[in-house]
Amino acid sequence: MKKAVQLTGLSQTELVSFVETLGEPAYRGRQLFAALQHRRQRSFDEITDLPKDLRSRLSDIANAATLKIESRYLSDDGTRRYLMKTHDNLPVETVFIPEERRDTICFSSQSGCPLQCTFCLTAQLGLLRSLTAGEIVEQIQIALNDAYGTGVKPPRGTNLVAMGAGEPLLNLDELLKALRVMADPQGMHIVPNRVTVSTAGIVPRILDLAQTSDRPHLAISLAAPTDELRDELMPINKRWPIDELLSACKVFEKTLKPNERLTFEYVMLDGVNDSDEQARQLANLLNRHNIKSKVNLIPHNPADPLPYRPSPDETVERFKHILESKGVHTYVRRPRGRDIFAACGQLAARQVTLTSLVGADT
Ligand code: SF4
Repeated sequence: MKKAVQLTGLSQTELVSFVETLGEPAYRGRQLFAALQHRRQRSFDEITDLPKDLRSRLSDIANAATLKIESRYLSDDGTRRYLMKTHDNLPVETVFIPEERRDTICFSSQSGCPLQCTFCLTAQLGLLRSLTAGEIVEQIQIALNDAYGTGVKPPRGTNLVAMGAGEPLLNLDELLKALRVMADPQGMHIVPNRVTVSTAGIVPRILDLAQTSDRPHLAISLAAPTDELRDELMPINKRWPIDELLSACKVFEKTLKPNERLTFEYVMLDGVNDSDEQARQLANLLNRHNIKSKVNLIPHNPADPLPYRPSPDETVERFKHILESKGVHTYVRRPRGRDIFAACGQLAARQVTLTSLVGADT
């Protein structure tokens, strides 16, 4: 059987070419793009500005949507977590985080993850497969439709972070394709400047991203100030150790815009990487490489069966103080959605029974 074309991953130009191969005029492609990407309609039946016979032909050969919501959880703090399934039955997780000024959607770039960060539950799934551009776009559409309704313009802007399951730089081509589709002003119009991609440190892809003109912002998950500890927490460090990683960041730095900084994410693990000495080592490391950057301290999110506890608040504050006293811009990220396993490092296709369960669509 011929594989159905996944339309959500196609740019407006590609959709125009696609409908032209069906003998339709170009404006039908633009109509289709507006329906899928601007109004976020997920079924051909809803696209009533297209003739019925065209809709019926499209449904024979293409998909307007492929992801299905399996479960949807609502946290006490308003965070929503979606557990979805691909057409081939693989888990995909997405988190919608409402914030005062703009919403943030944390999406997955892969189903599972091939890297083996020891503080992350997703690692235990292994890599199931990388997601397609269409599957990345659909995660954003599903979250926005659920929060605001199909076709409703989000009242606030949308930030995207590629910090869900997977290592985004191991799926860079599909990721960039999805970001280009979403940046179209006649679609969702979420520009790369609103997107942050977080990597465990895939050095050659960081260098590729540095050469990409419409690139998103970059965050590096560091988690340790020394190779010895990072080898243990993030085994990818054995392939690309800290100095090599920071040298790639130095190259990337040349592409930063005036107000832009590279972000280093540092998950805080009680008694593992949060001592005063480690704060000084981290500050010295970053100062030695002298990269225009900031550090986000992320209190670890408890996730059984992982053997870590979050650093106490006082420890996080002291760590921050030491970094700042050495001139490092430092922020503490407030964990969101911990109660529904939506927080960083907790995504592992986990079904939970909660009083705050808001129901499940399919
Ligand atoms: S922290 Fe990110 S890169 Fe590391 S295992 Fe988890 S999902 Fe993969």
